[in-house]
Amino acid sequence: MSNNHQKNKVLLIEDNPGDARLIEILLKESDLSDFDIVKKESLKEGFEVLDEDSNFEAVLLDLSLPDSSGFTTLEKFLAKHPNHNIIVLTGFSDKSMGVKAVKAGAQDFLVKGMFDAEELSKSLRFSMQRSGILNRLEETQRVARIGNWECNKEISKFEASKEVFRIFEAEELLGKVKPDDLIDSKHPLHALEGIQQQTSILQSVRKDLQLTLKDGSIRYAFVQCEVVDGIFYGIIQDITDRKRTEKEMMESRERYQEIFSQSKDAIFIASLDGKLTDCNIATEKLFSVSKDALKSLEDIHIHFSPPEKRNEFLLKLKTLKSVTDFEIEIARSEGEPRHCLISANLLHDRDFQGYNAIIRDITEQKRTEELVKARDLAEESAKLKESFMASISHEMLTPMNAIFGMSNLLDQTNLDAEQKGFVKSINQSSEILLGIINDILEISTIQNGKMVFEHTSFNLHDLLFNVVNVMQYKAKEKDLFLALEIAEDIPKMLMGDKLRINQIFFNLVGNAVKFTDEGYVKIIVEKISAFEGGVHLKFVVEDTGIGIPKEKLETIFESFSRVRSKERIFEGTGLGLSIAKSLVEQQGGKIGVDSKFGEGSKFFFDMIFEVSESQEDLVPDAAKKICPDMAFDLLLVEDHKMNQLVARKTLQKKWQNINITIAENGNEAIEWLNKKTFDIILMDMQMPIMDGMETTKYIRTEMPPQIAQMPILAMTAHAHISQDGKYKELGMDDFVLKPFEPEQLFQKIATHLKKEKTVN
Ligand code: ADP
Repeated sequence: MSNNHQKNKVLLIEDNPGDARLIEILLKESDLSDFDIVKKESLKEGFEVLDEDSNFEAVLLDLSLPDSSGFTTLEKFLAKHPNHNIIVLTGFSDKSMGVKAVKAGAQDFLVKGMFDAEELSKSLRFSMQRSGILNRLEETQRVARIGNWECNKEISKFEASKEVFRIFEAEELLGKVKPDDLIDSKHPLHALEGIQQQTSILQSVRKDLQLTLKDGSIRYAFVQCEVVDGIFYGIIQDITDRKRTEKEMMESRERYQEIFSQSKDAIFIASLDGKLTDCNIATEKLFSVSKDALKSLEDIHIHFSPPEKRNEFLLKLKTLKSVTDFEIEIARSEGEPRHCLISANLLHDRDFQGYNAIIRDITEQKRTEELVKARDLAEESAKLKESFMASISHEMLTPMNAIFGMSNLLDQTNLDAEQKGFVKSINQSSEILLGIINDILEISTIQNGKMVFEHTSFNLHDLLFNVVNVMQYKAKEKDLFLALEIAEDIPKMLMGDKLRINQIFFNLVGNAVKFTDEGYVKIIVEKISAFEGGVHLKFVVEDTGIGIPKEKLETIFESFSRVRSKERIFEGTGLGLSIAKSLVEQQGGKIGVDSKFGEGSKFFFDMIFEVSESQEDLVPDAAKKICPDMAFDLLLVEDHKMNQLVARKTLQKKWQNINITIAENGNEAIEWLNKKTFDIILMDMQMPIMDGMETTKYIRTEMPPQIAQMPILAMTAHAHISQDGKYKELGMDDFVLKPFEPEQLFQKIATHLKKEKTVN
């Protein structure tokens, strides 16, 4: 209230002009001469001044005024302005009133006519000091957010500092509260009533309160209240900020606690010499030991291995104060050690030499990485294997072709019975060997996922008849009955890969014949269902052979799986069924087997086919139309002498009137083509100087039209040329696999010659 730049002010409420004048004079005489005096003559006028401006050091109050007289004047004043310094002016006759006034709350009293300038100044100075103290107290309370109150119910007095009202956000009630007001539960200060009631029972109360303010917001307060001689003395402190911080800290701690306990990474605190202070669940899991057991360990670091890594970790931690993603193994009480990354920070604490750590288990990650590496390696080696297979196939197949072909030719010459037997053995053995080589080539192609299936029209019935025709020969040798049962409602023309389906049947029927010594082999075709434009068919190959032991049934379709039997020498490679399975599955079907050891086997598979719209085979069965006395010019491009001979002899046996010209390589072939007219070319793919691919390209792009359009059949040992329609990409019309099946060779030549001739 005091202000250095303003003059100090005194309010004088006195209706006697003489008395008022006297006070003015005394004040001037005193050492406080720079006081301003505001004079009013009634209590009402005095209040009006204070309502405007309460900034007075003191109020000099005469008790007998026109609108109030005696002690009630003071009471009225205090009721309205309890915080002013009141110096009561009494007459000589009612001196005793002065003492009573001080007891009631006045600061001092002066007896009119009995005080001098010095006494007046003393009293005013005291007022100023008191104001100063009160100001500082109020300031302190404001800063500390502590208010105090006093309540005397007996004399209906309630006094509270400004801060109390500020805490309750009821500053407008300052100086206007009576003890009974607090009873009303809607009163802003009602909470204090509750405290006072508790205090009257307990004598002294300390507690935290939660206050709901007018606007609904929450405020926390600490209150302490005591009662002395029926008067309540209390302090109240606003602790909202502290509570809020505490709450935030609690929440944050809970959050961290949650992260700590939920973390998949092991988190722990330990001393540098290895005593565990705390750890989460993941730590127990990682070490596979309970928390208590970990805590009882002398040194948790014994779990860190190998020892040199453990030492390195601790040294780094001590010197660098922090370690990140350090690779270490954690030995566990049960099971394999785990590969881990540990990150740790040294803790700076005078009383504790320790660190906190997070350990991430990367065992699975490592394992996956290793698997990926192994897979990459496997893929790499599969590629190597494939190219090895491809290159070795040529090397093996060319001489095999010669052996097989020559033994066929030899068989047709004049031999005695013994010689015939030898030739037959050579022929059969080379056929078996060729089968094995082809199987190996085949499986490598399938396993590399390189298989592409044709989707062309074919006659299923013809295909099955052909299988039976070919296998009949072998069945007859063993006196077996080979039967074909096609249900009536099976459509003839389907869409699919004829060659691949053929191959499946040859594998299954071949096995059935091979492993049956008496009885029959039966091929059964049934319709599972039909739908718009297609059919779902089931194929069964049933035999009355040796059967398959139960325990072998599961692995029979795996590569290189064979049921060992001593008597049978030519069992093959164990690849046939694995190839058949891949072929069926890659065409969308499933293959299976039922078998009883010693009684027979039943292999079955299903496949869905589109029914072909063309009701006739697009490629006519040319074989039947081959005319043996056809005359035509054939250019054979082949560097291998044996193969030249086999091809020539085979072709001449079929067509007596054939004209065969032989070129040793691509260059020679082109020379011949420039000199002479041919009807068809048989082109070996692998030749020195200019290979089949280059030669074909040259013929197709560089030579005159009538030569460029000539039919060219590739001869190749590489099965993959035949797949994917690769030969077409290379510019060939068709292919024959070496060593060639004579019938296939004749058929293909006839087909392409015929086409060519009709075009011309
Ligand atoms: P392999 O080339 O040895 O015939 P497969 O994969 O075709 O290879 O067959 C694997 C094995 O399954 C054969 O060695 C044989 O023991 C058995 N097996 C296959 N088909 C039959 C069958 N119809 N009857 C009895 N055993 C069979």
